[in-house]
Amino acid sequence: MAADRTFVVVGGGLAGAKAVEQLRELGFDGQLVLFAGEEHLPYERPPLSKDYLKTGEKLEDAFVHDQQWYADHDVDLRTGTRVAAIDRAAKAVVTEAGDRVEYDRLLLATGSSPRTLSLPGSTLTGVLSLRTIEDSDAIRGALRPGRRVVLIGGGWIGLEVAAAARERGAQVTVLESLELPLVRVLGPTVAQVFADLHREHDVDVRTEVTVEAIEGDGSVTGVRLASGEVVPADTVIVGIGAAPNVELAQDAGLDVDNGITCDAVGRTSDWDIFAVGDVANVEHPFLGHRVRVEHWANALNQPQIVAPAMLDEDGPEPELPYFYTDQYDLGMEYTGLADPSDEVVVRGELASREFIAFWTRDGRVIAGMNVNIWDVTEPIKALIRTRAAIDPARLANPSVPLEDLA
Ligand code: NAP
Repeated sequence: MAADRTFVVVGGGLAGAKAVEQLRELGFDGQLVLFAGEEHLPYERPPLSKDYLKTGEKLEDAFVHDQQWYADHDVDLRTGTRVAAIDRAAKAVVTEAGDRVEYDRLLLATGSSPRTLSLPGSTLTGVLSLRTIEDSDAIRGALRPGRRVVLIGGGWIGLEVAAAARERGAQVTVLESLELPLVRVLGPTVAQVFADLHREHDVDVRTEVTVEAIEGDGSVTGVRLASGEVVPADTVIVGIGAAPNVELAQDAGLDVDNGITCDAVGRTSDWDIFAVGDVANVEHPFLGHRVRVEHWANALNQPQIVAPAMLDEDGPEPELPYFYTDQYDLGMEYTGLADPSDEVVVRGELASREFIAFWTRDGRVIAGMNVNIWDVTEPIKALIRTRAAIDPARLANPSVPLEDLA
C-alpha cells in the first residue's frame, strides 16, 4: 500500500473515528489526518441523552478510543480544528486558521446539527438543545426536582430527555406538533405506546400544539402556544430534528440533496471524496433508494463499507438501518425502514410493553421493533431480507419461532 498517500477525514464523531480505525485495520499505511471540530477526543452520543445525562458518570465510556490509540495508530488527530473549505482543484482542505493539508482521498464525516427554532425568545437563557457533552452537562444541571422543564419536539431527544428529567424529579411537559410523539417514524399504533409510557410517568404530553414564542425576560419563563396559553417553564429544551452539515460539500460544488449524495460505497460526485454518517445520503442496494440515517449504528457500521472503497477494495454489504432507545424501563431496538402508513402486526401485547411490532407491505416485513424482548435482531433482519410474504397470523403468534417464519 502506498505509504506516501494522505487520507484526510473531516469530522471527529463516531463515524470519523471508526473510519480511521477501519483504514488502519485494512492496512492503510499512509498519512491519516482526522480533523475534529470539538476539543474532545471523538465520542459517541447515545449516553448524552441517556445514562450520562442522568448521572454525569462514566463519560470515559463514550470515547471511541483513548488519546494513546491515535498515537499508536499514527493518526494525526487535530481536535478543536475546523475545516473551512475544500480546494478540489488542488486536492487540499483549508482549516479556519488557514492551514492547508493536501489529500489523496478525503472523507467527510461532518455529522448534523440540531435544528433551531426561529421564534421570538429562542435565544433566552434557559433555552437549550442537545448535541455535545457540554449540552448534556447543561441540561443535567437543569433537571432538578420540581424544576419545570418543557421539551419542544416529541422525537428521540424529546422523549429520552423527558425520561431522564422525570427520573431526576423534574416536572416535564412535551410539546409535539403532530397527533402523537414519534408518529412520523412509528405510525399511530406504536407511537401510542410511547405517549402512554410517558403519561404514566406523569409527563404532560401535549400534542397538535403550535409553539408561537418563548417568553421571558433574560431567562425563559414559559412557552406561548398558538392557542394563547403559556406553559410555564424554567428550562426549555428544543429537540425538533437535525440538519446535515453539508456546507463544506456544498461550497465545494459536490452534489447535495438531503445530505451529501453518495453511491452505495459512500463515494460523492467527486471520485476522491467520500462521505459517511449523518451527513451522507447513501444508495442502499437492498432498500433500492438513497437513505440518510441519523443514528448511532449507522455511524458505527458505515465506515466498514466506505473505508475499503477509499482503498479501492470491495467491502461488505450495508447493514439494514438500526436504532435503539431506552426510556424508563422500556428498551427497544428497531431494524429496517418502514413508512408509518405500512400495516402493523403485533406479536405480544402492546399494553404489556413486551412485544415485537412488524411493519408489513404487501405481506412482506419491512421493519421490526422489539420492545423489552432481546436477541431477536438477527431473525428480524432475516425476515426483512427474505422479501417473502409472511402469514400475518403466524407473524403475530409468539409460539411460532421467528426463525421458522423466514
Ligand atoms: P427527531 O427525532 O427528528 O424529532 C423531532 C420531533 O420534533 C418530531 O416529532 C417533529 O415533528 C417535532 N417538531 C418539529 N418542529 C416542531 C415544533 N416547532 N414544535 C413542536 N414539535 C416539533 O429529532 P430530535 O429528537 O431532535 O433528534 C435529533 C437527531 O438525533 C435525530 O436525527 C435523531 O434520530 C437523533 N437521535 C437519535 C436517538 C436514538 O437513536 N435513540 C436519540 C437521540 C437523538 P415533525 O415530524 O412534524 O417535524
